[in-house]
Amino acid sequence: MPSELSVTEEQALGLDDRHLVVVEGNCKIHPTALPALQSLTSICGQSGSGLGIASGYRSFERQLAIFNAKARGERKVLDDRGCAVDLKCLSVREQLFAILRFSALPGASRHHWGSDMDVFDPMAMPAGYQVQLTMAECEEGGVFGALHRLLDEHLPHSEFYRPYARDLGAIAPEPWHLSYAPLARAYEKVLTRDLLGDCLQCADLALKPVVMRHLDDIYRRFVQLESCSEK
Ligand SMILES: [Zn+2]
Repeated sequence: MPSELSVTEEQALGLDDRHLVVVEGNCKIHPTALPALQSLTSICGQSGSGLGIASGYRSFERQLAIFNAKARGERKVLDDRGCAVDLKCLSVREQLFAILRFSALPGASRHHWGSDMDVFDPMAMPAGYQVQLTMAECEEGGVFGALHRLLDEHLPHSEFYRPYARDLGAIAPEPWHLSYAPLARAYEKVLTRDLLGDCLQCADLALKPVVMRHLDDIYRRFVQLESCSEK
């Protein structure tokens, strides 16, 4: 990583994208991650798999719209089996954590940084196939199974890793989510609990009182990715 790289609070919160570049698929990523991404893409290519980016940078505003739509019942909230959750049957705390299982709080998404991306294999898809980003796609025999076996093999030797590889009890596993470690570590340091809290306090955020009440817990489990035994 170039020593002159500076990471700002606005970038860490998804409030600034001027430092990013547009790559194939009209996704934005941080230019510092590009050489390592190109190298990983070429390794996958040698074994006949493509490395497409389904989602790169996402702004604070976009994440806020997704979160609020789920909290307000305008967009489905799913459970681990892929079934829609009836939020009305849950306490507000339970509603919040059901949403956070699959959608980050605005300001707390790793997609704000340009270091993180959701990947798929465009070469493995039948014509007209819509990428879903599900566990079934990534498993042996799934449409992206070959790509993920290659990633299993090569990620340990690259600077990319899967931050959501395992279910630690908070965020659902997302093997398709890759993070460029040198950059992500820099953003992790800037995104403190207080920076996130101050930002959310000023946002038009649904469920704000319960978010602020549980922010310490959310920050530990959903940002710092600490393991939790009880939910
Ligand atoms: Zn992702």
